[in-house]
Amino acid sequence: NTFEDFKLNRQLLNAIEEAGYESPTPIQKKAIPLVTAGHDVLGIAQTGTGKTAAYLLPILMKLKYAQGDDPRAVVLAPTRELVLQIEEEAKKFSKYLDLRIVSFYGGLGPKTQIELAEAGVDLIISTPQRFMDIYRKEAFITKHIKTMVMDEADKMMDMGFFHQILRLLEVLPQKKQNLLFSATFPDNVQKLSEEFLEFPERVEI
Ligand code: AMP
Repeated sequence: NTFEDFKLNRQLLNAIEEAGYESPTPIQKKAIPLVTAGHDVLGIAQTGTGKTAAYLLPILMKLKYAQGDDPRAVVLAPTRELVLQIEEEAKKFSKYLDLRIVSFYGGLGPKTQIELAEAGVDLIISTPQRFMDIYRKEAFITKHIKTMVMDEADKMMDMGFFHQILRLLEVLPQKKQNLLFSATFPDNVQKLSEEFLEFPERVEI
C-alpha cells in the first residue's frame, strides 16, 4: 500500500512526500477510502496513529475540487494546542493546493480571526466555543459546509462540551458528511456519535 493507491491528486502526493511520509499508517489505509467515498466515519484511534492525516487528506481533496468562497469543511478539536497542530498539518499538505485554512481558538482577542474568516475561508479548524463566538459575529456562513470532523471527541466530552456541540450542530446543515475520532469510546462519546453520525463506518486500530 502506498499513498498513490488513494484518489489523491499530484499536488497532495507531492506534499505528502515532502512531509516525509513513505507509506500510509493502518488508520489511514482504512479511513482514507471511506472518507473519500463520502461515508460518515467513527474512528477509534489514539494520537500518534496518523489519524489527523487520515481525515485531512481526503477533505483537502474534496475542498480542492469544489471551490467556493464560504467554508466547506470544519474540524472541531478540544484545545488550542490541538487546533494549532491540526492547522500545521493541514497547511503542510495543502502547500500546492491554494486553499484558505484558518484556525479559531481562545486565549486571545477574536479580531484577527474574524478578519480572516471575513476574507473567505475553505477550511475552519476550531475549538467549539470560539467557532460559535466567530459565527455569532457573522464572520462566515455555514450553509455550504459539507464535511465536519470532531477530533479527540472523548476529550471534548471530558471538558463538558456536549451541550455546546449540540447547539453548534444546529447552525450547520443537516445533510453533510460527519467524522468522529476518539481515542476511547465511553458512553458519553457513544451518545455524541449517535447525535452526530448517520450509519457510520467504524474503523478501529
Ligand atoms: P497523529 O496521530 O495524527 O497525531 O500523527 C502522529 C504523527 O505521525 C504526526 O507527527 C504526523 O505528522 C506523523 N504521521 C502521520 N502519518 C504518517 C505517515 N503515514 N508516515 C509518517 N509519519 C506520519
